[in-house]
Amino acid sequence: MSRVYNFSAGPAVLPEPVLKELADEMMDYNGTGMSVMEMSHRSPEFQKIIDDAEQDLRDLMNIPDNYKVLFLQGGASQQFAMIPMNLMKNKVADYIVTGQWAKKAYQEAQKYGKANKIASSEDKTFSYIPDCSDLPISEDADYVYICENNTIYGTKFKELPNTKGKLLVSDVSSCFLSEPVDVTKYGIIYGGVQKNIGPAGMVIVIIREDLITDDVLEGTPTMLTYKTHSESGSLYNTPNSYCIYVCGKVFKWLKSIGGLEAMQKMNEEKAKILYDYLDNSKMFHGTVVPKDRSLMNVPFVTDSDELNAKFVKEAKAAGFVNLKGHRTVGGMRASIYNAMPKEGVVALVEFMKKFEEENS
Ligand SMILES: *Cc1c(COP(=O)(O)O)cnc(C)c1O
Repeated sequence: MSRVYNFSAGPAVLPEPVLKELADEMMDYNGTGMSVMEMSHRSPEFQKIIDDAEQDLRDLMNIPDNYKVLFLQGGASQQFAMIPMNLMKNKVADYIVTGQWAKKAYQEAQKYGKANKIASSEDKTFSYIPDCSDLPISEDADYVYICENNTIYGTKFKELPNTKGKLLVSDVSSCFLSEPVDVTKYGIIYGGVQKNIGPAGMVIVIIREDLITDDVLEGTPTMLTYKTHSESGSLYNTPNSYCIYVCGKVFKWLKSIGGLEAMQKMNEEKAKILYDYLDNSKMFHGTVVPKDRSLMNVPFVTDSDELNAKFVKEAKAAGFVNLKGHRTVGGMRASIYNAMPKEGVVALVEFMKKFEEENS
């Protein structure tokens, strides 16, 4: 068996101890004689799995009792519609557009009401986070929407926007559990799990209880109503049961390494190694305004497309895979999520140094 260093933006690297446990429990989960994949989602064994997963997530994020945790399907993208359908009482919402995912959410919301783009960084290929201290928040806005960590462009809100009292809704797909957060600052905090937590096919929605009502836009499907899933403990229909089980394992792994404070320290350490090198390299450059840099997604370029392509190819041959940048940015992107070990980043930087020497 040989594992690579996988810098994919998602689906992405998972912690090896978790993968090993999954393998160990594949044929016989905890004496049941079956895999969790084969298990009824109405069984007491599965109920314990989902209950433990929720409790561990609550412990990790310090989620207050007046917030519900929902394990839903449809990925993060389905929330782009579900949020306006459930929250747009006045049919007005303000969007801060800092990348493709925020833009998609903004465009989707336009189907259901008046979505205002109150700030954007599109003028400079989303390479920075706009000043959000005094934005023209709409008087009757039902919520203000952000994408907190921009997976494609590698920027992160280091400070939440001043929403002037309006509800904040945040997509944290690519920074989920990468550092401690204050859940009370949000109405909804949600993310697809395939970036920083588990396998693809699920989104976790943490939503303040009072936002879960029957007062949704006319025609909202039962499956797209938060109340449906909240009332049934995410078991209205068959959930992505195996994914919930894997996420639960990752939550336990995070607890075992010291929780989100410890994780943040490790993430800062890892990112610093890569950014320090980029800041000193004559060949490779980061593409993001330094103060807005993400700890999770690190885009970088050389001055030539040929050299970029050569680097990606040689890196792959050396066991550093999925480093090609998003097509809208070009160059390279290293996603260094929670499960990427520090050794992976150190080894990548060593490889980059060697490549720089050989090619300049
Ligand atoms: C990947 C990603 C999405 C889309 O996730 P899906 O689960 O594929 O719908 C949305 N937002 C952000 C920030 C992402 O990184």
